[in-house]
Amino acid sequence: MHKVQSILPKKILYWYDKNKRHLPWRIKSSQKRKEYYTLVSEFMLQQTQVKTVVPYFKNFVKNFPNLRSLSRVNENKLFKNWQGLGYYSRAKNLKKTSEIIVNKYKNKLPNNLSELKKLPGIGEYTASALMAIAFNKPIIPLDGNVERVLIRVLNLKTEKEIAKENLMKKRFFFCNAVRSSDYAQAIMEIGALICKPKNPLCHQCPLITNCLSFKKKDFEIKSKIKKEKNKFFEVKYCENKNKVLLIKNEEYTFLKNLLIFPMREISKKNFSKNLKKVTNIKMSNMNMKIKVNYIKSFKKTDKIQWIDKSKFEKYILPSFTKKIYKSIQDQI
Ligand code: SF4
Repeated sequence: MHKVQSILPKKILYWYDKNKRHLPWRIKSSQKRKEYYTLVSEFMLQQTQVKTVVPYFKNFVKNFPNLRSLSRVNENKLFKNWQGLGYYSRAKNLKKTSEIIVNKYKNKLPNNLSELKKLPGIGEYTASALMAIAFNKPIIPLDGNVERVLIRVLNLKTEKEIAKENLMKKRFFFCNAVRSSDYAQAIMEIGALICKPKNPLCHQCPLITNCLSFKKKDFEIKSKIKKEKNKFFEVKYCENKNKVLLIKNEEYTFLKNLLIFPMREISKKNFSKNLKKVTNIKMSNMNMKIKVNYIKSFKKTDKIQWIDKSKFEKYILPSFTKKIYKSIQDQI
């Protein structure tokens, strides 16, 4: 290893010890609790910012202090403790994962990338984060913050250079086998606090002497081309005696088993017919364009539920359903 490179991990860890944020999932505790806290925090952080997650995390681990208590909770109580964080499928997956760990893995989080990735809601990134943070393995999880630091340090520019597969290879720039848990969090923290998307604070950064972007004074990050698809849906809105009809979603992969308005995907051509107002909602890599069809009745099934209009906002429902409801109320 090059001499300058070899002292880099020391500089990064020194910076981290002095500057890290004191987050509730970082408190010193037993290995078992560390694994549980890392699991819960990583699920919560999947689509939500740190400062939003902190109070929810504290409340969540107070009410469900370990995997066993989480595995036994009923859905209603689970959602109450998740309310406000959104993306309820994360909560459902977290509970399912806790059940599997308790029953199949004798209440012990698997210490293995491929086993972790088999668990609900755990993909490549979360599995890497668990391996690094909870099990102290020398892996650098590639979240958005780490990607930005890597792209800047190596001054990566082209579409090919900033592609995920290339960054997966390039992350070995940060290789280090000492204090792997702190080290992975340190690089994430540099991305979050120092190497900001706009105006990076280079003079506070432990990477400054190694950073090509700083040398070239070129901090621009090319955005990746996202392939978003426009999809067209017709939502059925049925109201009766001040109640609104929703249905348990067993059809679509998004918001699985949660309450949504009955809906169907339609062609762009059919979408344009009798079009009055469009509600736009982004859902993962989909640009959903939604129009409403007001109906008087709906076939009876055990999947439907009537929700009182006056209490609609207070119900624990996906923000997707609430957004559509609000848009409809604005139109009526
Ligand atoms: S020196 Fe500046 S651009 Fe380079 S990694 Fe640090 S903060 Fe980012």
